[in-house]
Amino acid sequence: MAETIFDKIIDKSIPAEILYEDELALAFSDINPQAPVHFLVIPKKQIATINDITEADREVVGHLYVVAAKLAAEKGFADQGYRAVMNCNEYGGQTVYHIHLHVLAGKPMGWPPYTDKMKPLE
Ligand code: 5GP
Repeated sequence: MAETIFDKIIDKSIPAEILYEDELALAFSDINPQAPVHFLVIPKKQIATINDITEADREVVGHLYVVAAKLAAEKGFADQGYRAVMNCNEYGGQTVYHIHLHVLAGKPMGWPPYTDKMKPLE
């Protein structure tokens, strides 16, 4: 499977502002934040897209949400609320092909999360 920039963050060969780490997952601040708080929770296992998740990944994928909830509580925005979202492939807006849960907080989130309602890509 192709390496991504996130493998380099996992092995610490490039820096990131790491917020949490355990044997299954890593959380770090997004380099291009889209909200006052924006971090990513990723599995250490390489899984390219949501489409590549298998039954064997139940624990690791569920764990991403456990880490998101833990950090939301620790950072004090759990009750206020936040968005936790994973993009998949081109139409989903995915640019890094190693699954990651975006956690966005610190302001009210819009819904739907796009502006040009029904326009498909050319
Ligand atoms: P996607 O568009 O794939 O859902 O999200 C990829 C996210 O990774 C983007 O929000 C982008 O800003 C973030 N990102 C890309 N490269 C880096 C990097 O080298 N370091 C960090 N911390 N975030 C990155």
